[in-house]
Amino acid sequence: MDELLTKEKSSNSQFTYRISIPEPENHLLQVELAIANWQAEFVDLRLPVWTPGSYLVREYAKHLQDFTAIAGTGEELKWQKVSKNHWRVRNSLQGNSSITVRYRIFCNELTVRTNHIDSTHAFFTGAAVFMYVSEHQQQAYRVEIDSLKENWKIVTALPAIADSANSFHAKDFDTLVDSPFEIGIHHRYEFTVQDKPHNFVVWGEHNADMQRIVRDTAAIVAIEADMFGGLPYEHYDFILHASNGFGGLEHRDCCVLLYNRLGFRKEESYLQFINLIAHEFFHTWNVKRIRPKAIEAFDYDSENYTGSLWFSEGTTSYYDQIFPLRANLYDAKHYLKLISKSITRLQTTFGRNVQSLHDSSFDTWIKLYRPDPNTHNNQISYYLKGELVSMLLDLLIRDKSNNLRSLDRVMQIMWERFGKTETGFSETELHEVIETVAGVDLSLFWKDYLYGTKELDYNYYLEPFGLELRTARQDIPFVGMTLKSKNGMAEVEKVEFGSPAQKAGISTGDSLLAIAGIRVTAENFSDRLRDFSAGDVISLTIFQQDILRTVEVILQKPIDSHFEVVQIPNASPNQELNLRLWLTP
Ligand SMILES: [Zn+2]
Repeated sequence: MDELLTKEKSSNSQFTYRISIPEPENHLLQVELAIANWQAEFVDLRLPVWTPGSYLVREYAKHLQDFTAIAGTGEELKWQKVSKNHWRVRNSLQGNSSITVRYRIFCNELTVRTNHIDSTHAFFTGAAVFMYVSEHQQQAYRVEIDSLKENWKIVTALPAIADSANSFHAKDFDTLVDSPFEIGIHHRYEFTVQDKPHNFVVWGEHNADMQRIVRDTAAIVAIEADMFGGLPYEHYDFILHASNGFGGLEHRDCCVLLYNRLGFRKEESYLQFINLIAHEFFHTWNVKRIRPKAIEAFDYDSENYTGSLWFSEGTTSYYDQIFPLRANLYDAKHYLKLISKSITRLQTTFGRNVQSLHDSSFDTWIKLYRPDPNTHNNQISYYLKGELVSMLLDLLIRDKSNNLRSLDRVMQIMWERFGKTETGFSETELHEVIETVAGVDLSLFWKDYLYGTKELDYNYYLEPFGLELRTARQDIPFVGMTLKSKNGMAEVEKVEFGSPAQKAGISTGDSLLAIAGIRVTAENFSDRLRDFSAGDVISLTIFQQDILRTVEVILQKPIDSHFEVVQIPNASPNQELNLRLWLTP
């Protein structure tokens, strides 16, 4: 069918979604889409294959069942599937102008980007529930929630429609997809920042001090708003699922957080939760409004490729550790510990020699969200390396400008130029903004650290701040493999590329039985290696594909396994000043 013709004939169509959850215990969400004023011969309905913010084709349609279509007259309409996520319904065209489709979605996956329904709540993500008609993505949608259990309440960023309870308005499909629903029994804590109402909504039992969380969240909101010169929304919801696991997903006017229900009491774990809040909230600007060109308009039907997620996610990760510091929620010592941890993670990942930061972003659709036993050998995370590269850029800008400017200025310009109008930025435009603020040509920086795999020269950037990177190594000869306990055996989990273990023919999935004829376990493996030195040849007995083998491994010298950023003794007054301006609230 000619798309233009469809558009013309159905330009006055209206779309209303009715959602009901008659039996939460069976995890099924009932969806009814009523399309009024549809004059064309067909309607092509598609369910998104991914959700913005989580760059993996998740095949939401796999959870869809019981699809039917009827006309306003009650007559059943013919339909066929055109592809995995595309349904074509044939209109009867006999004076009919309304079509209703119904389907059910199985919802039993509790993550920030999927759906979960049980007897206490229903949480659903727009992309995993709502179908769209390509040529009608710009028009308004109405959502009505029916058949709620007693005591169940609705939280969504969508504005309620005044004349009817439980009805909401989405100005277009992007807004609909970007507004998850949390419906059920939950607690709501209200607070105000810069005269704007905020809610902290919590589902699940937990050991958190909610007063502290609300107070700290308000401090994060205020300090991030300060940098961008205000809050770009009317109302904001933090939706927390206190359960098992970890995750966050940003939306324009809300975010969804998943955190271990018992992870709030220990200070380090609590502060990690604060980093998560600072991260998701920073996305209110960076990535929800300041977007790479490839996602200026979302294509919900396939991958959206961009090399700029190092900025959208990595720079956000840098700031998620900086803002709690500026808000006085921890001190510089704690911050340096976090950075040291990040450096240790990157510097002990062999994949940093193989995959560039740019490619990590571009290939996220097939790599980052799909880890396998070789992941550490051929990839890095654009969150992690992006965070460290952003730190280096901040240090460089501060140093080159004598503390007159910082990465904050980059964010402010990106907001003014691209965020406020939601115009996608190109890689070149991003680089130009950073170079303008730094006042130096950074082509070599991009070549080495963004498009290449050269080792980050931490000390060069840390030195003006009176800091340096120290390395430490364990007193254990290097073998290059890790083990985990499985079915009472020590199973090889990872084998590092080019390591003694790999050279000896050991593979992921092998079971290690003995070192030099003596039984070994996953737990005592490292300790047993202390009995040997670099250069020693040890015999390892393994099961490989169920065949018993003995291989000889030539041990190497211990490698750097721990990295720490420390203050140098006798820092100059200038170095001390630089550090103070960077890391003092
Ligand atoms: Zn993020």
